[in-house]
Amino acid sequence: MTLHLYDTFSKSKRLFEPIDPANVRMYVCGPTVYDYPHVGNARPVIVFDILFRILQHIYGEKKVTYVRNITDVDDKIIATAKENNEEVRDLTERTISYFNDDSNYVGTLKPTVEPKATDHISEMIEIIEILIQKELAYESEGNVLFSTRKFNDYGKLSGKNLEDLIAGARVETESFKKDPSDFVLWKPSKEGEPQWDSPWGKGRPGWHIECSAMSNKYLGNNFDIHGGGQDLIFPHHENEIAQSQCAHGEVFSNYWVHNGFVTVEGDKMAKSEGNFVTVNQLKDRYQGEVIRLTMMLTHYRQPLNWTEENLKESKKILDKWYNFISDFETKNPKSENVSNEVLNSLYDDINTPQAIADLHKIFKNCKNNNQDSIDLFLNSAQFIGLMNNNPSDWVNWGKESSIDEKQLEILIKKRDEARAEGKYEDADKIRDEIENMGIILEDKDGKTSWRLR
Ligand SMILES: [Zn+2]
Repeated sequence: MTLHLYDTFSKSKRLFEPIDPANVRMYVCGPTVYDYPHVGNARPVIVFDILFRILQHIYGEKKVTYVRNITDVDDKIIATAKENNEEVRDLTERTISYFNDDSNYVGTLKPTVEPKATDHISEMIEIIEILIQKELAYESEGNVLFSTRKFNDYGKLSGKNLEDLIAGARVETESFKKDPSDFVLWKPSKEGEPQWDSPWGKGRPGWHIECSAMSNKYLGNNFDIHGGGQDLIFPHHENEIAQSQCAHGEVFSNYWVHNGFVTVEGDKMAKSEGNFVTVNQLKDRYQGEVIRLTMMLTHYRQPLNWTEENLKESKKILDKWYNFISDFETKNPKSENVSNEVLNSLYDDINTPQAIADLHKIFKNCKNNNQDSIDLFLNSAQFIGLMNNNPSDWVNWGKESSIDEKQLEILIKKRDEARAEGKYEDADKIRDEIENMGIILEDKDGKTSWRLR
């Protein structure tokens, strides 16, 4: 089996061949931390978690380095901190903890490294100095700008033409730019804003240089996969390529993987659109795996239409699976086999909808209580981050437990005795009594188990 990934740069599905199979390297643009992550922000977190799992499965758990940065200095962060009347650092630290909680909730593995931009200012300054030295960047009124015209490949990732970009640029081009398409590497900070010393005075980095510096530090000049949301292709990733390739003289990333938008009634879910649902808002109503499965039912490159019906549908699937598994003693499978069908689907450009269809098929085979099938089902589901809850916790999730369990056990025993004595009418009466408590009884292999309705 071989892994194929759709590469945005070449606009084709390509066989994945790592530079070094003993150290497969992936960089994904992480969150800008100023508010609760919304569902659109959660999509790349889940998509690249699955890719991380696939790479670990192929090359070995310890042989994949997954870097996902944290942008903790940015215009939006500064503006929000000001609005909240709090220190920038208090806001970013708090938001990072929201992000971590939400990532756990949707069942993602921790990336190998989660570098913060503010811990890497000197690395950014270093790259900017190289670019100035090579005369690819220039200083102007305390800003440092990258000269897009000096990089011949500018626009190749996004398929944009430099002349069109310039023609389309807003008329009120900032006076400090030589060319409207030039972008900021460093800018002066206003009074009270976060600032660092630099050869160009006190200031702060532009957003794009952050990712060039952090990917370089942890993954080197040339690495395997760069990922992120489709909305980052231009200008963010285009600018990352320009900076990194010009500074280091090597191809930046060998594969570019981008996930599609989350949409609400056809529009992109975005903070600025006001049409967003935060992950945190879903926690009272759904288990994290419901969110995860909902994301996986659409291929990562397609737009994902976010609806309550889709969530309910995912919950129904997982309820069915957990209800069945809860009849078995353990949620931990005894073997470690992941289904080849599921793997095949995932290796085909992370085709999660197909992998879920495969899981449904495997689940059907579990119906004859064959332990091997159940193991295969659980292994395969757990591989993509599903079926990791305790089945009885899942089944009883969100239900207020006002059940007197001792009383319940006594009633169940009485009913068993009545049945053993052939007093079926009495047994049925007890059953009705129990069911009125909101309990469902299940008789199986001479044993009676119960769960909340
Ligand atoms: Zn980035």
